[in-house]
Amino acid sequence: MKLGVSYFGSRHVEHVREDMEAVAEAGCNFVVHTFSEEDMTYYPETMAEIVRVSKESELEVFLDPWGVGRVFGGEAFSEFVSRNSHCRQTITISGNRINMEKACLNSQVFRDFMRVWLELAANTEANGIFWDEPHLYYGDLVPLFGKPQVVWACTCQTCQRLFLEEYRHEMPADFNDEVKRFRQDTILRFIGSLCKVASEKGLKNALCIFPTLDPRYGIYEWEEAVKLEGLDIFGTDPYWLCFNRKMEDFVRDVSRAIVALCAEHGREPQIWIQGFRIPEGREEEVGHAIKIAYEEGVRNIAVWSYQGSACMSYLRSEKPEMVWQKVSAAYKELRVKCRECEP
Ligand SMILES: [Zn+2]
Repeated sequence: MKLGVSYFGSRHVEHVREDMEAVAEAGCNFVVHTFSEEDMTYYPETMAEIVRVSKESELEVFLDPWGVGRVFGGEAFSEFVSRNSHCRQTITISGNRINMEKACLNSQVFRDFMRVWLELAANTEANGIFWDEPHLYYGDLVPLFGKPQVVWACTCQTCQRLFLEEYRHEMPADFNDEVKRFRQDTILRFIGSLCKVASEKGLKNALCIFPTLDPRYGIYEWEEAVKLEGLDIFGTDPYWLCFNRKMEDFVRDVSRAIVALCAEHGREPQIWIQGFRIPEGREEEVGHAIKIAYEEGVRNIAVWSYQGSACMSYLRSEKPEMVWQKVSAAYKELRVKCRECEP
């Protein structure tokens, strides 16, 4: 049984050590540390120390390319994007190409940059990488007058060229089936190449995709993602408050689908539980969601994030300490249950 939590907000190793002891005490046996562009630039050795103290608390450690290139989930800025405007994702509005604040997944410069990230991540001696929500830009443009329009990335020159090579005609302006497929393939090829390198370095690969089959989010055929070479753990994050869904149905349905898919393809299913922006009075749902994932057969459960995301006002729950209590209580209960049923 793997139970974990993500962690960010402190680079004081002694504070992190105390927090990792608290993480283990709460019933966790793994932690996901964010490893942003700022970390890779200014904290590479500090991160190695943070990995070490986490392991001293008996935690398995995963690193997350948090907001790197602004193409993964995460509240972190990207210096890569600001320095490399020619490597950005592009949208097209009325024939005009506009650069977005995200790196293009087909850009060789960005791919090389991710190899450097991976090298630094491997140097920390973490156990694995957590590839979180890799995506391409999508948006609905609703002008004051005129027709609403969908805008999607990536329509940069590199992507246009690759599309032409593959489909033998120009990339269409509409968000049609070919475009949907090309975007999905772009994300999968990008993550697939990283997984391959990571596993050659002895790192485990965990991939988390959005909890929807809506092509706007990129990956709409989960079976194409679960099959990626070098992938060990496959999952999603049914954050019911973000998607405005009923917790029980959303967590249950998505968990069931992930468990079935992973069983078919020999991967370990993982479900992320929302532990941020929990309104006061709804803390109970967090513990309940953990138990639902367990009931559906998930044995690798994680919560975003430590202490109800107390350290970041943008994500903080209204009563973060209460959220964390619910997480800890549910985790401890599952530990006991697991010892009894699955020795
Ligand atoms: Zn592109």
